[in-house]
Amino acid sequence: MDPTTLRSSLKQHFGFDDFRGGQQQVIEQLLGGDSSLAIFPTGSGKSLCYQMAALHLPNLTLVVSPLLALMKDQVTFLKGKGIAAECIDSSQTYEQSQQVMREVKSRHCKILMVSVERFKNERFRHFIQSIAVSLMVVDEAHCISEWGHNFRPDYLKLPSYQRQLKIPLVLLLTATATAQVKKDMAKRFSIQPQHIVQTGFYRSNLDLSVLPCSSASKGQTLMELIGQFAGSGIVYVTLQKTADDVASFLRKSGVAAQSYHAGMDNDKRQSIQHQFMQDKVQVIVATIAFGMGIDKSNIRFVVHYDLPKSIENYSQEVGRAGRDGQASKCVILANLDGLTTLENFVYGDTPDAEAIKAVVDDIQLGLEHAQWETQMTALSNQTNIRLLPLKTLLVQLELLNVIVPKYAYFAEFKFRFNQSIELILSGFDASRQGFLKQIFKHSPVKKVWATLDMNALLTEEQVERSRVIAALDYLADRGLIELQSKQNTEVFDVNKEKLDSPELTESLTAYFLEKEQKEISRIHALVAFFQTAHCLHASLASYFDDHQAPKNCGHCSVCRGEIAKLEAPLLGAEIDEAVLKLTRQWLNQEYSSKLSTRVSIDSCCRFLTGITSPYLTRIRAKSQKNFGVYQQIPYAKIRESVLANWKN
Ligand SMILES: [Zn+2]
Repeated sequence: MDPTTLRSSLKQHFGFDDFRGGQQQVIEQLLGGDSSLAIFPTGSGKSLCYQMAALHLPNLTLVVSPLLALMKDQVTFLKGKGIAAECIDSSQTYEQSQQVMREVKSRHCKILMVSVERFKNERFRHFIQSIAVSLMVVDEAHCISEWGHNFRPDYLKLPSYQRQLKIPLVLLLTATATAQVKKDMAKRFSIQPQHIVQTGFYRSNLDLSVLPCSSASKGQTLMELIGQFAGSGIVYVTLQKTADDVASFLRKSGVAAQSYHAGMDNDKRQSIQHQFMQDKVQVIVATIAFGMGIDKSNIRFVVHYDLPKSIENYSQEVGRAGRDGQASKCVILANLDGLTTLENFVYGDTPDAEAIKAVVDDIQLGLEHAQWETQMTALSNQTNIRLLPLKTLLVQLELLNVIVPKYAYFAEFKFRFNQSIELILSGFDASRQGFLKQIFKHSPVKKVWATLDMNALLTEEQVERSRVIAALDYLADRGLIELQSKQNTEVFDVNKEKLDSPELTESLTAYFLEKEQKEISRIHALVAFFQTAHCLHASLASYFDDHQAPKNCGHCSVCRGEIAKLEAPLLGAEIDEAVLKLTRQWLNQEYSSKLSTRVSIDSCCRFLTGITSPYLTRIRAKSQKNFGVYQQIPYAKIRESVLANWKN
């Protein structure tokens, strides 16, 4: 397609006269049949690339997006432009998602947005296999790389979905990628180097500072900074409790501040976000949960009260300031006190060999007709692996072809009648009445809730599971019953031979140790970045392999001659043998009486460094006074001491 036609199409559909940097190249590559990788900073029009391409490609564009809220925003935006876009998500009723599928099938819908988890559903995979798809778009594509800061295990499976579904084209979108992540992403989807499009990273209106600051003086320093800055701002902290504490401190000092984190309910978060947009709240004190999908252009300052999680996080978070192009300040109150905590979280997420073996054993024991069923939360509790690393482990098992996901279902259906059974039945013809009667017969009512005995229903009445679920969904949809489904169960096919391989546990353990090392080195890169003697803007740009930024920006603390030297943290208390002994005794006692298992060395280390795990949560470890007593001490050092104590 020639550039003039493309530009008039842009004007017609989106009302813009011209493309922004990089957009045209990406669109032309896609329309020319070349898979592409686009690295544009947040807010610079990444989405337009696929939206324009979708309009000119013959078949469906399938967009994989990590965030439900973002998906819905995009669909609303596109529909507003008269472009047929839909999403399938977990908040929809059965009937709604059926309707979307019909729109897709009839080729009315041009763009379909789904979450990566949707691919686990066998029915969805079957459905999409029957549809001609021109382009697969992967948003936040850095999630695919284990070198990236936000690795999502399920993303690793996208290249094989692309192959299985025979989708000819891929577009990867991200705001942040190091040279290594870039290479990794391109390789996994076979994207040629000349089809990687990266626009400049440098933001000339942001003033970056690293301000060395002791933990004790952070509150005061923050107050002084807010006094100097005018306008709205975000203060980023690591822990939810810190968010609440800092916000309340600011309010007491007369600043209109609110905390914002994942521990709050959705309505509360919405309301705070709304007040911030309306400038009724000046400062938001937030954990990382805040900012995705926020489109406030006049944020005048971003303060990092704690160390950010990574350079990628830092860059995205400061990037939320000054979208309107006006001068904005970004300050990090830096010391290394939080460093050990950051590192310890990494160690806490690495499952040990025993835990990995417990998962492999669970598959062995649960094997029936070469299939294995599991509920993630239960499995996490049972094997003592936190949910995210557990997901990573299952994906590794998938990539090794030990397990293959089949489908997921709800193990429990409960409902209450909103009308009498007779009245409900009277609305259906005789054959449907008969079917509903079968369902109700196998749903004994206790007080008001009826619990469906699905197994009995399926075996005794010889009906299909999907038809039962469709019927319940239908009744709920019409308001005739209130339906609750619980305990999402995932079903996998198992390759017994591969499962029995003696090296399996060992190679998985090695994988997690390597992953742990990658994350630890990323934290070290972060610390080095804040103490760099080179211009911060230039360092940031070069970290992301962008060599177009000026070498000396003139508006960062390093350019002003202030090179940060961060104090090494005080190690806190010395490790006390008596504390180790008491902890071990208490844990032994609790593990054997409440969990019927023996305590592992890592569980003991986690207790002392204040890292929770499913087992520690169950025995209410947090309420013990020695829980986290050595959180300032590096995990490796604690481990050494615990190991020595174990031998005594
Ligand atoms: Zn500079």
